[in-house]
Amino acid sequence: MIAISTETVKQVFLLYKTEIDNIIAEKRQAVDDFLNDRSKSHNSKQKQYLTKIINDFEKIVLATPAEIEVYSNNSLKAIPKLWKNGVNKQISFKDGLLKALNYNDLRSSFYPKYFHKIGIKACVYCNSQLTVSTENDGNVSAKFQVDHYLDKASFPCFSISFFNLYPTCASCNNIKRNKAVNFFLYSEDSTSTAKSEFNFCFKPGSVAKYLASHSIEDIELVFTEPNGDFQKTFDIEGIYNTQKDIAEELILKSKVYSKAYQNSLIKSFPAIFTNASLSNRILIGTYCEENEIHKRPMSKFMQDIAEDLGMIQKSKK
Ligand SMILES: [Zn+2]
Repeated sequence: MIAISTETVKQVFLLYKTEIDNIIAEKRQAVDDFLNDRSKSHNSKQKQYLTKIINDFEKIVLATPAEIEVYSNNSLKAIPKLWKNGVNKQISFKDGLLKALNYNDLRSSFYPKYFHKIGIKACVYCNSQLTVSTENDGNVSAKFQVDHYLDKASFPCFSISFFNLYPTCASCNNIKRNKAVNFFLYSEDSTSTAKSEFNFCFKPGSVAKYLASHSIEDIELVFTEPNGDFQKTFDIEGIYNTQKDIAEELILKSKVYSKAYQNSLIKSFPAIFTNASLSNRILIGTYCEENEIHKRPMSKFMQDIAEDLGMIQKSKK
């Protein structure tokens, strides 16, 4: 629900430079082998497409979102339907290319530690489920799925392009499949990495109604977004309507922890409440900056609701 700076990701590229260079060399060779495999009888358009990929290989794998857009509108458009279907029990051109690029191999070997370093621990679509990597005896394994912004079936050439990879929960990935969703996870624009265009709030009057009745059913939430894609695809309101107890706790906290009480806590425990951000975090129970929502599931929802209740003011605006 908020973009990450491309610069942050590029720093991680530098950290893994040797490994990424090896991946590029190995996969480029595999595509070259696929091009030169005589048993495949590629037609001239397919050969041209593969040659383009081989020549620009490093650029394609490391392409920024803007560069991917240029490629996908020009020299590396969606492949024709015919290339997706195998003929005479042979695997299709699309599957042959995907096999050469072997995204699955990276999914278990490189991506877990890569996304761990970027710091994404919550699904980038719903922000309600964990997307973490765990380490056991030196083996890092992924507890998440990877969605391809441009789908693998139509754009196999971007199947291992880093800026085309969105870590998600299994549920969002299964729902999305090949559907297009209008949201860019990576951005060069600092306004979209500091401020989310998505928002949760209470339906007007709903908090007062709840405080009078103390019935959780009276809590009504509203989700707004720049276009209707997230609600339509992922049923965001449906997910968060199951989390009204969190909203309820925040309503009660907003009543109990008055500003005066908060200030007295800060005074009494100066060693614990070392800065305002930390005291807000303890107060609402999660990170309070918009650009921190990838650190923990539910953060977006809790921040927005807390802000609606006047408990915090998100500073990065
Ligand atoms: Zn999700």
